[in-house]
Amino acid sequence: MQAILDEIVATIGVSNDRGKVADYIPQLACIDPNQLAISVALADGRVFSAGDHQQLFSIQSISKVFTLTIALGKLGDGVWARVGREPSGDPFNSIVQLEHENGKPRNPFINAGAIAIADAIMVGHQPKETLAEILQFVRFIADDESICIDHNVAESELKTGDRNASLAHFMASFGRMNNPVDYVLGTYFHHCSIAMTCQQLAKAGLFLAGDGENPVTGTRVVSARRARRINSLMMMCGHYDGSGEFAYRVGLPGKSGVGGGILAVAPGHASIAVWSPGLDEVGNSKLGTEALEKLVQQTGWSVFA
Ligand code: GLU
Repeated sequence: MQAILDEIVATIGVSNDRGKVADYIPQLACIDPNQLAISVALADGRVFSAGDHQQLFSIQSISKVFTLTIALGKLGDGVWARVGREPSGDPFNSIVQLEHENGKPRNPFINAGAIAIADAIMVGHQPKETLAEILQFVRFIADDESICIDHNVAESELKTGDRNASLAHFMASFGRMNNPVDYVLGTYFHHCSIAMTCQQLAKAGLFLAGDGENPVTGTRVVSARRARRINSLMMMCGHYDGSGEFAYRVGLPGKSGVGGGILAVAPGHASIAVWSPGLDEVGNSKLGTEALEKLVQQTGWSVFA
């Protein structure tokens, strides 16, 4: 495995076309695009990494996998009254679909859907309590108490978050928000701003590779059925309007973020995190996707194998 990862980083790291760093969030615009990392946490507890795997990055939309997991724990199938389970086919921050479906987002991973999930988790709590709960959950599944929020990124998102604010207010106009919009947005921006290394992220995804149980710590996080369902949503909706392309090229459930990270799950085998800040046209890490494509070619881990 180490040889495979070293080879991947050495070969795709020399590519000139690394994509474009997200610049609509000023704090992300200044990240050096010449970084690339991959970590594989195997179901037997071994973790292999290559490249800049000790570097913290903003997990952004990858956090939506974790907030969905928390929401399912709290609301069970009630979650599906708030968001759908269909790929959007529209950009991650699109508002058009909301108008057609009475303000109900198509899935929990587009921005509108994740804002609705933040609202659902928050009920009865203050934003700070909700954030503490989300952070605690991420630390628990990664088995790492050092994971934190990057408050500079959160501030930067708050200042430039007009599009997300309009999504939230638009949903509120359909009576779909149960908390003050500002509270929900603050929570959403902060959970998107959790900073992790590839190693930490790979470990956090292990429960999804282990049918709901972290195979290393032996802790059950969700039922096997729920883990499979979260994986199915990642497969169908995890890469915005590039989800079909990702399934075609990589063949694993995955969730990307505009910070350039991707969490991918090879059920029964491993949890994989990749990071390279340059994005393709639809906002998914360009080299990260290439790295996963190569890894799956070498390991045969595609769920369609
Ligand atoms: N915080 C980002 C936003 O709301 C998340 C987008 C993403 O990672 O795709 O725009």
